[in-house]
Amino acid sequence: MAAQLLFARYAPKTLEPENAIGAKWERLLDRLGLARTVKGRRVAVKMHLGGDRGFSTIHPFFVRRLVGKLKEAGAAEVFVTDMPGNVREAVNRGYTSETLGCAILPVAGSADKYFYTRKIAPPFRTLNEVHLAGEVMDADVLVDLAHVKGHGACAFGGASKNLSMGAVTGATRTDLHRLEGGLDWSKAKCTHCRKCVENCPNRAMSFTEAGELEIFFHHCKYCQHCVLICPQHAIRIAGGRYKDFQQGMARATAAILDGFRPNRALFINLLMDITVWCDCWGMTTPQLVPDIGILAGRDIVAIEQATLDLIRADDLIPGSLPAGWKLHGRKGAHLFERIHSKDPYEIVRALAALGAGAPEYRLIEVE
Ligand code: SF4
Ligand code: SF4
Repeated sequence: MAAQLLFARYAPKTLEPENAIGAKWERLLDRLGLARTVKGRRVAVKMHLGGDRGFSTIHPFFVRRLVGKLKEAGAAEVFVTDMPGNVREAVNRGYTSETLGCAILPVAGSADKYFYTRKIAPPFRTLNEVHLAGEVMDADVLVDLAHVKGHGACAFGGASKNLSMGAVTGATRTDLHRLEGGLDWSKAKCTHCRKCVENCPNRAMSFTEAGELEIFFHHCKYCQHCVLICPQHAIRIAGGRYKDFQQGMARATAAILDGFRPNRALFINLLMDITVWCDCWGMTTPQLVPDIGILAGRDIVAIEQATLDLIRADDLIPGSLPAGWKLHGRKGAHLFERIHSKDPYEIVRALAALGAGAPEYRLIEVE
């Protein structure tokens, strides 16, 4: 049976506050039936609080309304959680316990050492186990509150990426990034300008006396700063292994959700300020398409499928791509595939194959 997804369209029918997205958000939350899920329970709201100069993460308005509705529905405790560094800096982007109406906790403790280990069976390539964040796994209910955007390594970030890369430790994030398959360097293209070496945040790169680029993969976090900064395009992620990255993320997501069955997880994707890259980059770039709205439901596969279906390449806003970029690939492919050369639906298929849900959905519009 198709999953039912609530959909609040961003565009109002008339220019009145009651028809705008803020009011629709409240009505959508009222229709989610929160009480049967959260009453008397501890609720973790996992979101990305962003970093540095990024301001296109989910606006505190939406988080505060959600926290208020969870409390009204009888939740015993509500807290927002994210990676430790993002929590430490959250105040710089307007997220405080006062503005959100609840505590903000580092997802795996302030030292990133509060986690539960889950084996991946059978192992997936180099991924044998994942470290699931303690604050999330110790909650009774999980609200996966995700900002939807593009992503250089896997094309798309939504509900699954919010969990698999954000509700795990830094060590597991690195293990997942490692599935992307390393880096290739072209000696022929390189002019030895050293920009890559100087801009690697993890000091993972150096040149030998013979002019060979050496990458110390123990330190490399696969952040791709070197890939993007190289003026000669001499460095690239190797092997087209992005599907393995998505497969790894799907396994981490499924491991997290195994702790919240049955029916103790809610998924909310905000399709607003859809930017080309993820929120980890510490900056905000132009939105690619007009704001679409908010999706909510109880099936992660269905919500990811519907999210991607609602983002149309034809709606690309002129001038929104980074300077010098253009759409490529076959016409009719998804916008994120035409930008990042990676099929964003791979994560949907991977999650469905793992039994995390099903892609069929029915949208119920919240007026
Ligand atoms: S940034 Fe590119 S061109 Fe410059 S040294 Fe690194 S690989 Fe070579
Ligand atoms: S991917 Fe990031 S961490 Fe790895 S070598 Fe490049 S800049 Fe350094």
